[in-house]
Amino acid sequence: PPLYMQRYQFVIDYVKTYRPRKVIDFGCAECCLLKKLKFHRNGIQLLVGVDINSVVLLKRMHSLAPLVSDYLQPSDGPLTIELYQGSVMEREPCTKGFDLVTCVELIEHLELEEVERFSEVVFGYMAPGAVIVTTPNAEFNPLLPGLRGFRNYGHKFEWTRAEFQTWAHRVCREHGYSVQFTGVGEAAGHWRDVGFCTQIAVFQRNFDGVNRSMSNAEHLEPSVYRLLYRVVY
Ligand code: SAM
Repeated sequence: PPLYMQRYQFVIDYVKTYRPRKVIDFGCAECCLLKKLKFHRNGIQLLVGVDINSVVLLKRMHSLAPLVSDYLQPSDGPLTIELYQGSVMEREPCTKGFDLVTCVELIEHLELEEVERFSEVVFGYMAPGAVIVTTPNAEFNPLLPGLRGFRNYGHKFEWTRAEFQTWAHRVCREHGYSVQFTGVGEAAGHWRDVGFCTQIAVFQRNFDGVNRSMSNAEHLEPSVYRLLYRVVY
């Protein structure tokens, strides 16, 4: 399967194993991952997508609307899907209390100084139970035919494994998380040493004696983000 599908599948497998109830996807763009998660719900009750670009969101958001089959099939329990225009660098109260935050190919679109702000907001302010971050592995780039510079003109940086891991370990020290590294897209033979094409960090919030999960708390209306779409199944 293509790389982007492998990234989505990684998140789907995670959801299947850990069964988060509230999931938020930053940089959700055309909502492809949200659509897949809606199909493989595994107990998700609230599914939120956020992107800074309302044009891409508006393009495909109606693909999240209920299908006739959603009404015919026995329900998997209540599900709310919401899409917001907003930036992952803004403190938005309604993003607190989530079980899982996903950032698939998002951080490399931020300036390096903005990554600092991102870490502070996501891990310090939102403080979700878990965070999945995927980003290109720069060490894999020599294997990509015809590539000069970054993989995409919109990328502000591409990190080696050491750079990604240094950032992630600092986030863990500062905000009380543990992290494991993996990836998708493996090179063949002796090229395996360069690591995965897409590197992935899975962060888990450390037990801090306080149950900060607000999974049962009432969901707040946005105060900073702009609500573009909401559907309740
Ligand atoms: N996650 C999607 C996927 O894997 O198919 C799309 C990733 S796309 C390469 C990056 C997305 O991040 C774009 O849709 C862009 O608008 C969004 N983005 C960039 N900066 C952002 C920010 N500060 N807050 C939220 N989204 C942002």
